[in-house]
Amino acid sequence: MQWMTRWGRQVIEMRRLAILCVALLFLGGCEQRKEPCTATFFAMDTVMEITVYGDRSLLAQAEEIVGDMERRLSVTDDGSEIAALNRGGSGSISGDTEELLIQALDLCERSGGALDISIYPLVRAWGFTTGEYRVPKMEELTRLLTVVDYRKVRLGKGEAVLPSGMEIDMGGVAKGWAGDQILDAFRKNGVKSALLNLGGNVQALGAKPDGSPWRVAVRSPSGEGYVGAVEIIDKAVITSGGYQRFFEKDGKAYHHIIDPATGGPVDNGMLSVTVVGDKGVVCDGLSTALFVMGQERAVAFWRGCGDFEAVFITEEGIFITEGLKDAFVLLDGCGDWDVTVLYHD
Ligand code: AMP
Ligand code: MG
Repeated sequence: MQWMTRWGRQVIEMRRLAILCVALLFLGGCEQRKEPCTATFFAMDTVMEITVYGDRSLLAQAEEIVGDMERRLSVTDDGSEIAALNRGGSGSISGDTEELLIQALDLCERSGGALDISIYPLVRAWGFTTGEYRVPKMEELTRLLTVVDYRKVRLGKGEAVLPSGMEIDMGGVAKGWAGDQILDAFRKNGVKSALLNLGGNVQALGAKPDGSPWRVAVRSPSGEGYVGAVEIIDKAVITSGGYQRFFEKDGKAYHHIIDPATGGPVDNGMLSVTVVGDKGVVCDGLSTALFVMGQERAVAFWRGCGDFEAVFITEEGIFITEGLKDAFVLLDGCGDWDVTVLYHD
């Protein structure tokens, strides 16, 4: 290269720069044009859709985060940390799994045990793990309930220990946690606008690229269509409902959210609970917990907290908490729902 003149080198550098610019325009096309890049895939037993206004390669990173989490947390994958812990009664756990366990146990405590990650033996007894549904006898439920008590889970130094017979399941919090991890990765990569729909759990990063809020639809508790929508910026909108997973036996429906007080599917008039807040894992854990609590306890619980808002759909109608007063809209043609605003007093 010594024979090359300075001018010749500059021309080559300018050409390289031009080629690089064209390549970036193609590779990062969605970023340049502020158009959405979307990936849809199946994970954690549900369909996930991720939309990012930014570098397309972040979609693969998001899918990897979910895949890695599923490999560590799945109760049905024999190689997962949680399955090994359930089998052996003790086991080493990675830093991320320990962090999730700490947060989940905190939510169990906060909800007075309405959320209880040690409910797994009951979830399995009803067949929700395998899809081989059955209605267990009362004696079986009573026996299995004796090993349900999140307060007996021991954690420390990268190890978890469960009392004899106890098994845990992160199903009530895992998707919200996964959403938090994905959005953290996006933020670190400079993304300003993204939307996740992890099987109906919606989490938004920022606002839409034009600065307007995202509109997240709230499903009708019949499972068909939507009753309303909430407008949000930079929030999680996470729903627990009896319609999401259930089976019917002898004309009666049995769904997947189990009341730790009875061992059976929650049966308290609550049809769905949508929690809106900053953290996915908190909204996920609380939507399950508030569904278990039933309307009266759930509303009293909300009044004692300041970190979330909620939409309760019960047999009586739709109840929205004060902070959603201007953010919730009923959708046209959604039937005759009564909407009541709940105040902090
Ligand atoms: P979600 O859809 O977030 O409300 O979570 C429901 C899932 O959490 C179920 O499929 C079970 O795996 C698990 N689960 C059911 N009942 C409870 C409960 N009371 N506490 C904790 N997890 C539960
Ligand atoms: Mg949940």
